[in-house]
Amino acid sequence: MLDYRLGEEHEALRKTVEQFAREVVAPAIGDYYERDAFPYDIVRQMGDMGLFGLPFGEEHGGMGGDYFALCLAIEELARVDSSVAITLEAGVSLGAVPIARFGTPEQKAEWLPRLCTGEMLGAFGLTEPGCGSDAGGTRTTARLDDGSWVVDGTKAFITNSGTDITGLVTVTAVTGQTPEGRKEISSIIVPAGTPGFTVAEKYSKVGWNASDTRGLSFAGCRVPEENLLGERGRGFAQFLQTLDEGRVAIAALAVGLAQGCLDESVTYAKQREAFGHPIGENQAIAFKLADMEVRAHTARLAYYRAAEKMLRGEPFKKEAAIAKLHASECAVTNAREATQIHGGYGFMNEFPVARMWRDAKVLEIGEGTSEVQRMLIARELGF
Ligand SMILES: Cc1cc2nc3c(=O)[nH]c(=O)nc-3n(C[C@H](O)[C@H](O)[C@H](O)COP(=O)(O)OP(=O)(O)OC[C@H]3O[C@@H](n4cnc5c(N)ncnc54)[C@H](O)[C@@H]3O)c2cc1C
Repeated sequence: MLDYRLGEEHEALRKTVEQFAREVVAPAIGDYYERDAFPYDIVRQMGDMGLFGLPFGEEHGGMGGDYFALCLAIEELARVDSSVAITLEAGVSLGAVPIARFGTPEQKAEWLPRLCTGEMLGAFGLTEPGCGSDAGGTRTTARLDDGSWVVDGTKAFITNSGTDITGLVTVTAVTGQTPEGRKEISSIIVPAGTPGFTVAEKYSKVGWNASDTRGLSFAGCRVPEENLLGERGRGFAQFLQTLDEGRVAIAALAVGLAQGCLDESVTYAKQREAFGHPIGENQAIAFKLADMEVRAHTARLAYYRAAEKMLRGEPFKKEAAIAKLHASECAVTNAREATQIHGGYGFMNEFPVARMWRDAKVLEIGEGTSEVQRMLIARELGF
């Protein structure tokens, strides 16, 4: 039977995060954003609420929830601010999930408890300065030498990689050649502070300014052989799986932003008067609001559907790509319309819609561009 109403636990979580976003994040985040500062205090409170442990078992210090619960939390945060939402999304789906899914019992015991409390953040380093969409073009290498992996290379645009609480980065690296002559790619856990691992200054970004994004370099960086994540040569398959799930979470983030733009615009359109009446009484504005509602609504259904298939254990690659593609494009359009509805004030940074406009664009780029999503969907259609 089709039923997309939230169950009691999911609804309780959604409400709690909604309240937290409204009461704690909203009043404080603008200041962090304008200073390009990482919101440690907010992240600590998100950790105290258990958000970083949502989809993990209690034996690892998690909340015993599911990935959909994580998506709901991300959506509610992004209704107010995307920097904190992406910090949670990347910390869990890129930082902790690969360890939970592919790690040895020792790796899980070492990292998951601190990742689940948010006391420590994990990052995932796939993209390189020379390749992002074409991730098979990885040039970073790792060679075995006397019981250690020696990592050399560079990574670009890595979220959560250089905060004071970053504990590890899992990097993809070429570890040899397959029998067919292709690159053998493996994933290796590099703890923060390992000699030979350098984290660059934060990028100056258009948006997500209160989120930490950096370039990384590795020069003769040695980590124990046991830091291989999962099987040697499975790195490519691991990140494809990680990204399929991550796309559902990014779609949730995009829905939150699309909804936040609508929330702000409805309020503004009722208050702001022009030509003697509220601007929302003009059908041109009311229709914009109606279209924004349609986008948020349909994008939410798309990610619910992808999450449902994921939780059932059914193939969900196409649904995840559809949700990510549709939700990110809806977010960009809603952000543009929200700015328009706010007129000149929409271009002023003190208004949340200005931040949302700056934050929206990257949703069409990160964790697979819109073109990559279309490639995935077309491939599922046989092209
Ligand atoms: C703020 C931010 C945070 C990020 N966080 C992380 C992170 O934590 N970890 C990580 O590993 N990466 C991260 N990324 C990297 C992100 O995933 C990549 O930027 C993205 O995958 C695109 O790769 P690229 O930038 O190399 O673009 P390219 O791959 O060079 O693409 C450039 C353009 O060409 C298009 N294109 C490429 N190939 C094709 C094709 N075959 N057909 C049609 N069009 C094509 C693309 O769609 C795009 O429009 C982050 C990026 C940003 C901006």
